[in-house]
Order: sequence, then C-alpha cells, then structure tokens
Amino acid sequence: MTTVDDIPSNLWEECPLCHQLLYTRALEKELWVCPKCGYHFRLHSAQRVQITVDEGSFIPWDNDLPLVDPLQFPGYREKVQQAREKTGLNEAVVTGRATLAGIPLGLGIMDLAFIGGSMGWIVGEKIARLMERCVADQLPVVVFCASGGARMQESLISLMQMPKTSGAVGKLGEAGLPYIGVLTDPTYGGVTASYAFLGDVIIAETGAAMGFAGPRVVEVTNLNLPRGVQTAEFQYEHGMIDILINRQQLRNTLRILLHWFGGTRPEHSENAGASSTALLGEMTDHE
Ligand SMILES: [Zn+2]
Repeated sequence: MTTVDDIPSNLWEECPLCHQLLYTRALEKELWVCPKCGYHFRLHSAQRVQITVDEGSFIPWDNDLPLVDPLQFPGYREKVQQAREKTGLNEAVVTGRATLAGIPLGLGIMDLAFIGGSMGWIVGEKIARLMERCVADQLPVVVFCASGGARMQESLISLMQMPKTSGAVGKLGEAGLPYIGVLTDPTYGGVTASYAFLGDVIIAETGAAMGFAGPRVVEVTNLNLPRGVQTAEFQYEHGMIDILINRQQLRNTLRILLHWFGGTRPEHSENAGASSTALLGEMTDHE
C-alpha cells in the first residue's frame, strides 16, 4: 500500500504567499509563478538559464577564480567550501555568453543559494570581467540581480566591488553597448548601490523586494520609511525602474529590447523590422 512517505517530497510545492499546494511540474510550466496568486518563486541560476536563453547556448566564463580571504575571517573558507558543495557553483554569480532567440549576449545571473547571493571579490571580478569581455566581443549584457548585499567576511574588499563593477558598466557605455539590469527578489545592499541600478534599461520582476538597507536593518534603525518602499511596485511608481514585468513576459521583452539595441534580427518574429510602436505592443504579448 502506498503511504505518504512513499510520495516524493518534490512532487508538490507550497506557495509561500497564498499557501496553495502546487504540482511541481505544472509550476515549472508556469516558469515558477504561482497560478493562484502570481507569487514569483525564487530561482536558481540554472533554472534562470533554462527559461531565458536558447537551449544549450550558454557557455560559462571565469569559473575558476580563487577565493580571496584577506582578513583570514574565521570559518570563511569552510563556509565557501560548503556553499560550493551544496550548489555546485563556484560563486554567487554565473557569467558567460549565450544567445536569446538567436541574438548573442553576455549574461550574468546571481544565485541566492550561494551565501545569500552576497558580493565578494569573485562576484565583483566576474561581473567586471563579463562587462570587459563583452566590450571586446561587442556584445550586449544582461545581468539578473539577486543579492543580500556585500559579503561581510570580505569587509572593505567587498565594498570595493561597487566602484569596480560600476566602472565596468561605464566601459560598456563608452563602447556604445547596451546593459540591461533585471532586478529579482530580493536585491539589496552593495549590488543595489552598484550595477543593479545602472542599466540602460532597468527591469524588475513583479513582487521583487529591493533596497539598500535590508528590512532587518530598517527595523532596528527605526527609519521612518514610506509603506512598501522596498518593493518593485513602489520603485516603479517612483521612476526608479523602467519596466515592471511578470516573469512570463520577461524573455520576450529581453528579445525585443536586444533587437532594438541593434542585435541581429530575432528569429520566430513576424514583427521583426516593424515600427517601435508595433514592437512595444508585442512586448506585452506572451511569446
Ligand atoms: Zn500563491
């Protein structure tokens, strides 16, 4: 007789917002957006690659940068080693090149599963190298941000990644290459204060939390902030974000933007070469 213990635990997922039990396979088809309430589940970098770029097109870069532990922070090396074993990742961001609907691009995707997506030397270095290599290869860049902020174990070295990555974004601009930042849930701290908000186009996923100080810091410092200030919706209403979007429209929107910015003609698009107005209309349609 089948018992509850025989049912694989990953068959169902509970929505953290509406608590509805959802069939995992169906949820996957919905790109991990709850069909009941619209909650956007947090994604691992591998899932993001899978739903964003052309199958098999992603080629990772800089996967072998050595750990920097300038302060010899107690337990830090072990923590990084554990994160590497748990996630199979080298660090909290994956970078590389890929194609999206046939358009080549440089891609960065942060992963919260790796020490909260925090930015230390390797993360900053990978982002900066991504930008510089894309200048050399003449590629547009898309970075999916998700981060708890700077990595405290690297102290000032982690804060130095803010000017380093910001400078690298500037090099893309000087080369006339577009940079699109996509803010996903949650994007905080040093990442918010550097490359997350420096895109030529800044996109945010519906419901994403974002801000400089995290909610816990805001709470203990008694800052009197407006209600909902750390949400994508608030930031969009106040002009900090250009496009607020449901994940199911994201890939198509990136395709249209990359095409606008001068990428090669998108495949499978009857509107390629049409006017901006027509493309804007298309942006709201599902792919
Ligand atoms: Zn839900």
